[in-house]
Amino acid sequence: MDNKLFTPGPLNTKLSVKEAMLHDMGSRDKEFLEVVKEIRSELLVIAGLTPDDGYDTVLMQGSGTFGVESVISTAIPSDGHLLLITNGAYGDRIRQMAEIYGIKTSTLSYRENIVPPTQDVKLALKTDKTITHVAIVHCETTTGIFNDIEGVGMLARKYNKVYIVDAMSSFGAVPIDLKALDIDFLISSSNKCIEGVPGFSFVICKTNTLETCMGQARTVSLDLYSQWIDMQKNNQFRFTPPIQSVLAFRKAIEELQAEGGIGKRSERYQQNYRRLIEGTEAIGLKTYLDKKDQGYIITSFLFPEHPNFDFTRFYESLHQRRQVIYQGKLSDTNCFRIGNIGQLFIEDIDRLLIAIQEVIVEMDVRF
Ligand SMILES: *Cc1c(COP(=O)(O)O)cnc(C)c1O
Repeated sequence: MDNKLFTPGPLNTKLSVKEAMLHDMGSRDKEFLEVVKEIRSELLVIAGLTPDDGYDTVLMQGSGTFGVESVISTAIPSDGHLLLITNGAYGDRIRQMAEIYGIKTSTLSYRENIVPPTQDVKLALKTDKTITHVAIVHCETTTGIFNDIEGVGMLARKYNKVYIVDAMSSFGAVPIDLKALDIDFLISSSNKCIEGVPGFSFVICKTNTLETCMGQARTVSLDLYSQWIDMQKNNQFRFTPPIQSVLAFRKAIEELQAEGGIGKRSERYQQNYRRLIEGTEAIGLKTYLDKKDQGYIITSFLFPEHPNFDFTRFYESLHQRRQVIYQGKLSDTNCFRIGNIGQLFIEDIDRLLIAIQEVIVEMDVRF
């Protein structure tokens, strides 16, 4: 049996999803191209979009970061100006990308436990008319905080800006109304809440906006526009596709539908989250975020303030019990993280809680 992964991805996947990979196929194989086509249209369905809504899906090789980078390096023209809103490591990664590509960027940066207030975004958009694009992370996986993509979306729409949302760790588990929020580019990947295996990211793009991006890409391999042209033509990746990962993903989408869609998956993750919070509170652990800002994807916990607490030992002892938690990523606070996504159920959370309790006793950490 595999370890239980309480991480932000890669995650535990269903056996059927892994089994879907037991095939060899050529990258130009008709059968494979049909799978790509199916995935592209199913992702629109999952996003609540119809073919008439003016959106299309582009798959991009690599992990989620590659998808984000394909958007940042393709969507913003050389005379563009990005307003980046960040409160964590994934937002900061976008800033790093923009810097490398020499993209003019204004950054609204917040502490990791603060939901960026929309009035700041409004002020920025009002005062600097040169801003062309707005980017934000939906669930900032650094902490698990849910950012206000609705509020920011309303402003991006009002001020007529291209709106980029990194919904990597939320898409498929948190309903997002792309049309109402007027999102131009939404990025997620194969190994997060759709519960596929790693291998590619996908970008749900407003076609009107993508059409304006020809020749803007600053890299060859991450050229989102060119990838779209080929996908539109014949559902082909421009370079070697992650065949098995794509096959697994198609199965993962079927499994998501069989579970009852985003609504049901969201419910399961929320149940996991509630049980985790009840259980860890009973043990004495404290969360980093305010409850009102905490999403149900992943939770950051403060290291217990007791001299016997040793994170490496805590992690290793849990690992020996086949429970894999995740290290923290905060700039100034010692935390570890526990995710609720992937093939995890209440029983798994209960087993994790028992293991945590055992290790806490073993280390003689007292609250
Ligand atoms: C997982 C994740 C990414 C991508 O990370 P990779 O390691 O490249 O898959 C980007 N943004 C957010 C918010 C994420 O959770």
